[in-house]
Amino acid sequence: MRAKSSSRSQRSNSEKKISKESVRMTVPFQSPRGMRDILPEDQVYWGHIDRVLAKVVQEFGFQKITLPTVECAGVFTRSVGEGTDIIEKEMYTFPSRGGDMLALRPELTAGMVRAFIQNGMQVLAKPVKLFTQGPAFRYDRPQEGRYREFYQADFEVFGEDDPIMDAQMIQMAYRTLLTLGLKNVTFQVNTLGSEEDKKQYRKLLVSYLRSKKIKLCRDCKRRLAINPLRILDCKEEKCQQVAQSAPQTVDHLSPEARNHFKFLLEYLDELEIPYSICPSLVRGLDYYSGTVFEILSAGFNGRQSALGGGGRYDTLVKRMGGEQTPAIGFGIGLDRVVMCMKREKTKVYSDPKPKVFLAQLGELAKKKSLRLFAQLEKNGILVRESFGRGGLKAQLRHSSKIGAEITIILGQKEAIDETVIVKDMVSGSQETVSQERLVEIIKKMLKNNGIIFQKRQMDKDKQRE
Ligand code: AMP
Repeated sequence: MRAKSSSRSQRSNSEKKISKESVRMTVPFQSPRGMRDILPEDQVYWGHIDRVLAKVVQEFGFQKITLPTVECAGVFTRSVGEGTDIIEKEMYTFPSRGGDMLALRPELTAGMVRAFIQNGMQVLAKPVKLFTQGPAFRYDRPQEGRYREFYQADFEVFGEDDPIMDAQMIQMAYRTLLTLGLKNVTFQVNTLGSEEDKKQYRKLLVSYLRSKKIKLCRDCKRRLAINPLRILDCKEEKCQQVAQSAPQTVDHLSPEARNHFKFLLEYLDELEIPYSICPSLVRGLDYYSGTVFEILSAGFNGRQSALGGGGRYDTLVKRMGGEQTPAIGFGIGLDRVVMCMKREKTKVYSDPKPKVFLAQLGELAKKKSLRLFAQLEKNGILVRESFGRGGLKAQLRHSSKIGAEITIILGQKEAIDETVIVKDMVSGSQETVSQERLVEIIKKMLKNNGIIFQKRQMDKDKQRE
């Protein structure tokens, strides 16, 4: 018998799959490749993330800012850099009707810097701590954890060059992910040194890489002329082998840059943050100098293990037309965080479920039930209903499906008498009460049920012991 019902449920599951798939094949419009709907069943994760972010933003003294999803393309070409994959291959650009070249933002930092300068935030008391959140777009090859539209949370601090700020940013990223319930979060850190150090290092690196050019992948051969640092974090096996013996940034630092990095590591030790130094970590974007870091989930393998990354960009504000302002920031990839939360089965906060169902029968009752619903809702009682249905049976089925503890029934007679039937779904008992006293009675019943459930839970716990 059991085998039969399980094969039936298997069949209905595969039927569901087939019908979903066939629907997908026949609908005339689908979301663009690499862009997806985040469905109601996943919203519990995203809602939980929003809540945790709001808490961390407040705790660390950040202010929220909302930026446009579209910027002038120059905002990114000037900051992220012409020779980077993001600009060359992945950015969605298009001319506006007025002829300006615009871009869907491929990352959030450059827009933040533009907003900081444009809104005159240089005059604010330093450090200026800003937070933003939203979609970013990259024309990448879609796969699990890699989309063309993805979501980031972005934290930036302007006007502080002390390494303690670098440590605090890493601490904050760590805190955020731990609060979200993720385990196995680790950091990779490195330093690129000052702009001058970076320039000198680049020369050294290019001369080393030229001698190994034959061993590089096709992309990296091209990168050699435009973005040689990027070769160090190419994921091709043969490029990684070349990168292993390449000169390292940490061996070519000015005394100030070395000291900055040394202090950062000491602070991270003090905070007991799990990190390793990764000499090949350069991050692909031009604007970084000094500290760079990536946030990894140790539970994942491969490229999609990166949950976020960031670093210092002390010269970017000036390069974008502002005053010289040191800055540091990081972004967390929220799609990957959701993937990890699911994989690690983290606990998520979900909205309280309604415990009361309101059923109505007949024209007059239907009309009156709208007012009753508003009255309950105004008094903080969450109620479900299915006003579109007329039959009591179907409504009661709905009520038990959502697990309601109480069903309120308003029929023709009750509507005339200004009463309702209150059915306790836990004990099965029911009584007719006046509509005037309904809120008071429901509140009392919910309280009593709460006590009963609590007692049952305690009995269960005792039995387990
Ligand atoms: P990046 O600045 O490129 O290192 O991006 C920061 C974080 O955003 C990464 O560590 C990922 O978690 C996330 N991310 C970047 N690109 C994508 C993408 N195409 N799809 C999903 N998440 C992404």
